[in-house]
Amino acid sequence: MDDFSRRAILALSAVGGAALSFEEARAAAFGNPDEPPQGAINSSPAAISDPGPQNPALARELPAFQSPPPTDVGTMPMLWSSFNIMPKRIQAGGWGRQVTITEFPASKDVSGVDMRLGPGGIRELHWHLANEWGIVTKGRCRTTLLDQNGNANIQDVGPGDLWFFPAGCPHALQGLGPEGAEFLLVFDDAHQSEFSTLLLTDWIAHTPPEILAQNFGVPVETFKNIPLHDLWIFQGKEPGPLAAAQAAVGAGGKAQQPFTFSLTATTPVKQNESGTIYLADSHNFKASTTIAAALETIKPGALRRLHWHPNADEWQYWIKGQGRMTVFDAGPRATTFDFRPGDVGVVPRNQGHYILNTGTEDLQVLVIFKAPEYQEVDLSNWLTHTPPDLVAQHLNIDPAVLARFPKDKVGIQPA
Ligand code: MN
Ligand code: MN
Repeated sequence: MDDFSRRAILALSAVGGAALSFEEARAAAFGNPDEPPQGAINSSPAAISDPGPQNPALARELPAFQSPPPTDVGTMPMLWSSFNIMPKRIQAGGWGRQVTITEFPASKDVSGVDMRLGPGGIRELHWHLANEWGIVTKGRCRTTLLDQNGNANIQDVGPGDLWFFPAGCPHALQGLGPEGAEFLLVFDDAHQSEFSTLLLTDWIAHTPPEILAQNFGVPVETFKNIPLHDLWIFQGKEPGPLAAAQAAVGAGGKAQQPFTFSLTATTPVKQNESGTIYLADSHNFKASTTIAAALETIKPGALRRLHWHPNADEWQYWIKGQGRMTVFDAGPRATTFDFRPGDVGVVPRNQGHYILNTGTEDLQVLVIFKAPEYQEVDLSNWLTHTPPDLVAQHLNIDPAVLARFPKDKVGIQPA
């Protein structure tokens, strides 16, 4: 029996004042509401045993799938996926792996890419149809962009820094020494593949040489050494100082509107003993017109409160620690998922959810919305801004107790 099942039985026992037999548990009860009842506490040890083929490594990672809480009900789309189960494309200079709608059908708004560039590693000059949002999770890299107005922009970014490259604006990335960089890319089109972008080398190689000569006003021989296959990621030499690179492209190498942003240099929208939430959307990061993001740190045992988002699906990148989430939808339907670093989750728009830190270290999860601004409805905030008599008649809770519910808009509760 895992900790969660044990805790559920203890909770159930507390209600009845004594341990319930399996027979007694087979009636709808607090913490075990369904008819017929669902969950291991309603079964017998022989019936819940699982003698068939096992993959213990996978089973250990996903305990809620092995033994869902008895409050889970109905069927939901698979809202869990992971970069850990996606093949890496590795080349000299770095690698990438991705979760698009092809690998994860529940992710209808965005696709995600986990990319690593070693020191000097270059993600080739390219462009694509979707807007690209990025966050650095390790190390440092140099971003190079030509914006819609023809302005060159070059910036170095480090952990907690974001970028937003508008669709069609050509760009490149390069890992800086000594450790290179790892970063997450989010495209605001779930079909956008990192392995299907418009590449500089592809276009040059597939244009008649005499057209190239005429286009650039130089002899045909100029192009005799171009690569015949694309580079995508390749090992380059480490770039010089940022100021020199900016000077080399003219006009200071800076956009009128910054396309990079330091998320962790902002004031958190929430900070207490239970955790921290940083927020970046088009209100503070003006360039990010289609992506809103929150970086949430939740302390061991703490709970990111029950809430939902009215304006977009939530796409999650689990960075550190471990957590558990239950998603609620009409039906009723409720399914519980466990997450670890490198995992990806989705909560469809307006579906209720919480996140519990189930580990012994800080949990960090990045949540992304394909929307210009972050929006959230908090259950406790709603119930404390509704006439107490009305709420009391729904839940059979004394209004004096309702008055103790948290009243803020975004919440993390202590263990
Ligand atoms: Mn790109
Ligand atoms: Mn949420």
